[in-house]
Amino acid sequence: MPELIVDLTEAKKFLAAKVSKCAIVQIPEGLKDRTTWIIDELKGSSENIFVKMDPCYGACDLPLNDMKALDADSVIHIGHGPIHRNKDILYITCYYNLTREEIEQNAKRLLKELQKRNVNSIALIANAQYNHVLPELKQILFREGITSHIGTGTSRIATQGQVLGCNYTVVESIQPTVDANVYLGDGYFHPQGLVFSTKKPVIVVNPLHGTVEEIGEKNRDRFMRKRFAAIAKASEAKSFGLIVSVKSGQRQKEKALELKKAIERKGLKAYLLEMDLVNESYMMGVKVDCLVNTACNRIVLDDAENWKRLIINPTECLIAIGEKKWEEWSPDEFLH
Ligand code: SF4
Repeated sequence: MPELIVDLTEAKKFLAAKVSKCAIVQIPEGLKDRTTWIIDELKGSSENIFVKMDPCYGACDLPLNDMKALDADSVIHIGHGPIHRNKDILYITCYYNLTREEIEQNAKRLLKELQKRNVNSIALIANAQYNHVLPELKQILFREGITSHIGTGTSRIATQGQVLGCNYTVVESIQPTVDANVYLGDGYFHPQGLVFSTKKPVIVVNPLHGTVEEIGEKNRDRFMRKRFAAIAKASEAKSFGLIVSVKSGQRQKEKALELKKAIERKGLKAYLLEMDLVNESYMMGVKVDCLVNTACNRIVLDDAENWKRLIINPTECLIAIGEKKWEEWSPDEFLH
């Protein structure tokens, strides 16, 4: 089983160079069991090290307010590539250490699947934990006659071939040249987002389970039916609650204000709701017919059916009020 590596060498150098007095370390949920290890390792690099315990799902959620509150001079953000660059923040990617033999085994399993489908040209993508493996995998596949493309994304994307749940621009730019999209990684969060964004097959190579599988058409149809049902319901709404998150990389105040104007132009009511973590229970008593989420688009795309209230994304709202056509549906990716 590949091991998840967290290398703090750069963090020690960064904090020492800043002569740090107080630093905040932000970690994903999966690394909480390394909290005390991280503090022990960084001891001596800064006078005081805090590890932030609030959940963190991406580099879209930097602890800028915490820095002010604790008078911290530095943040070490572990687990995600940078979205926004800031001189006081160091991003450290944790990554799976796949050996050459493990990469070869994954390539072999993938090749079988590609040959079965007569696929010769693919988009290769991964999340931050596996991204470093893509060039080597590409080389091995090339030897076997498969052309792999590793695309470049918008400014929100730190490295070639890397996807975020809210940004698949590395794939979109190369879609016309590929027969299928291949995602290297564990879990379905990222490949599922790809299903919303492209019409070509999505093949998932999971190095932890040793599996290769296609997720696609059926998921896409089921998903689109649910979204269109939600839009149809929203088209009957008379009042909308527009959610704006204050998280650094999810904040879309301008978009919410534009939506507000568009809704009001139709003679309907719009109310601005502000929060940090978007959570249904925080809006229990709010009397609106429909919520519109301008924060992380995946809250709606992945989770709307678990909400008791009707919640839709901005483009869906514009369709519901007749400002956009149904064919113009999009997953509302975050590009910057
Ligand atoms: Fe991930 Fe959502 Fe943040 Fe994008 S906005 S990085 S999908 S948590």
